[in-house]
Amino acid sequence: MKFFKTLKGKKLKLPLFFPDATRAVVRSLDSGDIENTQTKGILVNTYHLYRDLGEKNIGRFDGISQIMDWKGAIISDSGGFQVMSIVKSKDGNGKVTDEGVEFFPTRKKKAIFNPEKSIEIQLLMKTDMIVALDDFTQPTDDYEAAKETVDRTLYWAKRSKKIFDKKTKGINSYDKPYLVGVIQGGKHQKLRKLCAEKLAELGYKSFGYGGWPLRQTQGKPDEWKFDYESAKTISESIKKYEILWGLGIGKPQEIVGCHKLGFNVFDCVLPTRDARHGRLYVYNADSIDKIDVTKKDFYSFYTASKVINLKDKSCVSKACDCLLCRRYTKAYLAHLFKINDTSAYRLATIHNLRFYSILMEKLKERSG
Ligand SMILES: [Zn+2]
Repeated sequence: MKFFKTLKGKKLKLPLFFPDATRAVVRSLDSGDIENTQTKGILVNTYHLYRDLGEKNIGRFDGISQIMDWKGAIISDSGGFQVMSIVKSKDGNGKVTDEGVEFFPTRKKKAIFNPEKSIEIQLLMKTDMIVALDDFTQPTDDYEAAKETVDRTLYWAKRSKKIFDKKTKGINSYDKPYLVGVIQGGKHQKLRKLCAEKLAELGYKSFGYGGWPLRQTQGKPDEWKFDYESAKTISESIKKYEILWGLGIGKPQEIVGCHKLGFNVFDCVLPTRDARHGRLYVYNADSIDKIDVTKKDFYSFYTASKVINLKDKSCVSKACDCLLCRRYTKAYLAHLFKINDTSAYRLATIHNLRFYSILMEKLKERSG
């Protein structure tokens, strides 16, 4: 059994799922609510927190965990995805160079976000796992364009490792955060393999499956499917690792599939975003004990906001022990959605997070 260690000395069994707490909050929940869903960790966004709070304010606290009074694990992304999205968007202003990402957060102000800056902010936030800045391969990139992003990702990974080692010099390895190198390369398996191997050569021990994990179906350019081939290439290319992170993954069945390939950390906006739209995940089972995640259709969706539910006195799921399922009826939840009360988002989010924490419990049982 593999563990995830936190800077506060906790050892958490893997696999772990980290819901999205972009701006140091899981929308509509407080830290106590998150704890009660048995969620062990959350993911915060470096760029947003840097922009919202600023380095000085973050530095006044003992990390994001103190700001939120969150005692579980916290991981951060590099912030690159947001910055790149600004630059690479249609009317984006700025450019990506080997030095870093040049962009304009406001019309007048030019800023540069580079590998060193990303690592410095993440260390200041004292998150348990931090990510080296990477250059995102678009899923439609041809070999040449993809190779360019891989080369830049590796160059930035080298610089990230250098500053990480410098800033954490003298700290015992148990008290350092994990440093994750991101494997880019899109659909090009040769590049995925190359990127994985070179990161390992640079001394990385933890890796992330980067880019959109999607692949166009041959002959059907509008149909996108989960890219298991790259997931497989990545897990086969790395001989030894501490953390193998499926970045932005994903749907419950994709998590089960990637866990089989050796991935042990996941994060995704889906459970919280879907909850706010009244889309609830429900196990197709009569009790938690009877859930079987190896079955093809082990769960389905329940649309909480339908008016017909106003008559229904049953709970949303018998295979769930969250606050919503223990205490309230489908009818009451439908009513809360109908009148747009914020408690509808809270209860639905609590339920979906418990669905994902149960999924992790089931996968832990399978890992032995
Ligand atoms: Zn529930």
